[in-house]
Amino acid sequence: MGKFYLTTAIDYVNAPPHLGHAYEKVCADVINRYRKAMGDNTFFCTGVDEHSLNVYRQAKAKNMSPRQYCDEMVPAFKLAWQSLGIEYDRFIRTTDEDHIASVKKLLQKIYDKGDIYKDKYKGWYCVSCEAYLQESDLIEGKCPIHNRKAEWLEEENYFFRLSGYSEKILDHINKCGNFITPEARKNEIINIIKSGLQDISISRASEGWGIELPFDPAQTVYVWIDALTNYISAAGFSGDKRRFKELWPADLHVIGKDITRFHCIIWPAMLLSAGISLPLRIYAHGFMTLEGRKMSKTENNFIDPKNIAEAAGSDAVRYFIVKEMPYDDDMDFTWDRFWLRYNTHLANDFGNLSSRILSMAEKYCGNRIPGFSERGKEDDEFKNVFCGLTDKYQKLMDDCRLSSALDCAWELVAFANKYVETSQPWKLHKAGQNGKLDNVLRNLLEGLRVISVLLYPFMPVASHKIWKGLGIKPGEKQGIFSEMKPWGILPEGGMIEKTGMIFPRKEKDKL
Ligand SMILES: [Zn+2]
Repeated sequence: MGKFYLTTAIDYVNAPPHLGHAYEKVCADVINRYRKAMGDNTFFCTGVDEHSLNVYRQAKAKNMSPRQYCDEMVPAFKLAWQSLGIEYDRFIRTTDEDHIASVKKLLQKIYDKGDIYKDKYKGWYCVSCEAYLQESDLIEGKCPIHNRKAEWLEEENYFFRLSGYSEKILDHINKCGNFITPEARKNEIINIIKSGLQDISISRASEGWGIELPFDPAQTVYVWIDALTNYISAAGFSGDKRRFKELWPADLHVIGKDITRFHCIIWPAMLLSAGISLPLRIYAHGFMTLEGRKMSKTENNFIDPKNIAEAAGSDAVRYFIVKEMPYDDDMDFTWDRFWLRYNTHLANDFGNLSSRILSMAEKYCGNRIPGFSERGKEDDEFKNVFCGLTDKYQKLMDDCRLSSALDCAWELVAFANKYVETSQPWKLHKAGQNGKLDNVLRNLLEGLRVISVLLYPFMPVASHKIWKGLGIKPGEKQGIFSEMKPWGILPEGGMIEKTGMIFPRKEKDKL
């Protein structure tokens, strides 16, 4: 088993996170738990981006130092991720010492290579984008994304020779089919590169909040160049050489589809210039709207991750947003659909199945796991369906197709529910067909175990409850897939414990 280094984008620290930000972290956490369950040594990094002009101005308005202001904002992010069961290994802040050292080291390498030069920059700047915009992009002088007036900036900056890397990046994209996914995002990037890349400004002279350029301390590093570098900082670029060699390149950057240009063009070009290997894969997910409108704190159209996790449980939130976000498209969150899914998929289909199986085993088998005493043809079918779908699930998970992988697990839930109806254990019990009854329940208990393993990356709380119910301890989280995937490993005679309702039915409720 190998290592798996996984990152999310880092959020601007100046507004507390909403459910739209949470999707990316949940998605990464699901992949991280899966890789770990497969036996990989995983390292999962997320964090916040603190050196933005917005932070500087808001801190000033509040009469605080930018650092103080960030210190006050960071706990909101950590709490939100905690409430959704996100288990990262590093929460990086771009004001962290090792990150600052890493940015300086990287820029010095690029400078020494001759890829950085000084020039005058003039242009329209959107402070929310933290980027220069083309005049033709503006609508009545405003940024079309933020509906905010662009500012005219004119200063001497340092530039990075991005234009020199078009061919190399195109080559890499063509050679490594999975470098940019999904396909639609990859094609967008190829078109941008083919239409010609321009050199980009990588420093600012005007504000005093940021990382100083190592070769000109009068200028600070442009916030995007600063932010992108976090991925190598967390891997130990400025510190332990052995650790960096072990962790880098990142196996996966999970990002939103709005920032692919930075991650799929600028970031690889910087790494190529500095002679550092490129990340193996970038997955750009879609956006979440709320009841048809953009999710936004300023527009008062947002969901606080902590509140929804408290109302429905972290598992339900994780399940819903991963299920509803297609691999290569956007999703619209509606409360009707959320509670409908909760009550049908989670409470009825999965929750009921699990408590039904455990209470039948309690009632008919004296609280014990029965053995296979009278195997029939239908038992092979049960096993084959489960093992077949487990393989399919694994392929989908390996390819970050999380929503489809959940569908696979749900096919098993539906199959097991149907099996309960057709095999009618209560009738077998009444008729005294105990051998057959044992087999049916044994199948169902094995099936429930497999389902709980497949659902573990998505709904770890529910899986732990089921494992407790089945009397099994999967031990360390690392490698549980290899330990638990084989069919028929529940110990005969093992004790069953009732779990209660894993997903109690809930009234529709809008937060
Ligand atoms: Zn903007």
